[in-house]
Amino acid sequence: MSEEDEVQNYVDGAWQTPSSADGQAVVNPATREELAYLPFSDEDDLDAAVETSNEAFEDWRHTAVEERVQPLFRLKELLDEHIEELTELLVMEHGKTRAEARGEIRRGIQNVETACGIPTMMQAGNLPNAAPNIDETAVREPIGTFVGITPFNFPVMISLWFLPHAVATGNSFILKPSEQDPLVTQRIFELVDEAGFPDGVVQLVNGGPDTVNAMLEHDGIEGVSFVGSTPIARHIYETAAEHGKRVQAQGGAKNHIIVTESADVEYAAEKTVASACACAGERCLSNDVMVVEESVYDEFAAELAAQTREQTVGYGLDDGVDIGAIISDDHLETVRGYVESGIEEGAELLVDGRDVTVDDYDGTFIGPTLFGEVTPDMTIAREEHFGPIMGLVRVADFDEAVDVVNRSDFGNAASLFTDSGHKANRFKHEVEAGNLGVNLGTAAPMAYFSFGGRKDSFFGDLHAQGQDMINFYTDKMSYLERWPDQS
Ligand code: NAD
Repeated sequence: MSEEDEVQNYVDGAWQTPSSADGQAVVNPATREELAYLPFSDEDDLDAAVETSNEAFEDWRHTAVEERVQPLFRLKELLDEHIEELTELLVMEHGKTRAEARGEIRRGIQNVETACGIPTMMQAGNLPNAAPNIDETAVREPIGTFVGITPFNFPVMISLWFLPHAVATGNSFILKPSEQDPLVTQRIFELVDEAGFPDGVVQLVNGGPDTVNAMLEHDGIEGVSFVGSTPIARHIYETAAEHGKRVQAQGGAKNHIIVTESADVEYAAEKTVASACACAGERCLSNDVMVVEESVYDEFAAELAAQTREQTVGYGLDDGVDIGAIISDDHLETVRGYVESGIEEGAELLVDGRDVTVDDYDGTFIGPTLFGEVTPDMTIAREEHFGPIMGLVRVADFDEAVDVVNRSDFGNAASLFTDSGHKANRFKHEVEAGNLGVNLGTAAPMAYFSFGGRKDSFFGDLHAQGQDMINFYTDKMSYLERWPDQS
């Protein structure tokens, strides 16, 4: 593999090869072609990036907000202009379909657009005569260098949850993307370079767990935005906090759909398949446990099985593909292990996706798999499998359905299909999850609303996206003034 195929860091406005002897290949999971090699960054690489970042912060923090948003406006235009090229790159290294990749990038761009509103979003309020002859103003100030550490499943969208808001508020930002699909991020940083941020304000440091752990302990870093699996999110939260940093850490998930007796069964099945199987199930908002009222269980199970069988598995760049490849052989093995656990623990295998074959490609494919008669204590009902596996749980009534959902260790998302306003109202107030949807398969908050889960799905208090981002990336100062007449 030539040097041109090596992934680079972007530090101080220039491209550099990371120095560590460790690294890994970047592979197209659908074709098994090696696309590039990613060398990891060592502590010296990180020290240099953090030093540059803190130097850049000193000017950037005092730059007028109206000037700070100009590179973001340019970045938005560049992302729009290059969306098809970015889409193709994302499909190649991740495995998702073209439509899914394009949709992800659009969601990322919406975060850039939202951050362009920072002159309004960053205002903090004031009160004349807050005390006798005293006017008080709340001032939001940037803090320093933040890092974003992101997962493989949405490399564009999640990086853009953090980067635009961190720098729009006047901080410097270093991104450490997932080592599994870093190429689309590298291309986005070429656009960042074109967008005209001052050198050092936005930087890219590639690496694996050692690079992350060095970040958590680094004195020059003020805060950490993390998204990934629950055990790592917990570790990030605890370690970064122990080292005096702000931290928001989004973890893994296990999400449910409740189907009531008044639901439109065909519509609910269509949205369920889309929710559970999009991105081959590799989504934190994937609703893959369907908790179904007894009276409609058989009808819903039959409809869901029929629609599941209609899904086409294949290479995400090809037309007509609904479900792409799984990110890696290791993860494919994990997903297959969950299917085996469902069989061993006594669930009823209604649709078996294990033997799927895709013409012309020997990639990491598995077909959508549906289990019936799943009980809440089964492994496939409790653990995040991150594959296109669905399980149907039969319940007597709505009370039992809510109980099943709330017994989960996770609380990222849930959806409800019903015609009953009363049940929808109870769902809104009683279900313990951060993103709820009624008569829609996936409750994905828009860029101007915050996005975060509960229980083991989230560690911290301020979520991603929206106004929470402004609160996370700024410190509030109270400024009180009294001007007695000294004439
Ligand atoms: P992951 O936890 O394996 O990796 C995430 C990041 O952590 C990567 O950048 C990786 O380099 C780093 N990392 C991995 N192991 C580490 C270690 N031991 N020490 C320090 N850093 C380490 O997650 P993933 O497999 O890339 O992504 C999938 C997970 O992310 C799923 O659990 C999914 O639910 C979750 N996710 C959550 C949300 C959300 O909003 N809650 C959104 C997307 C993905």
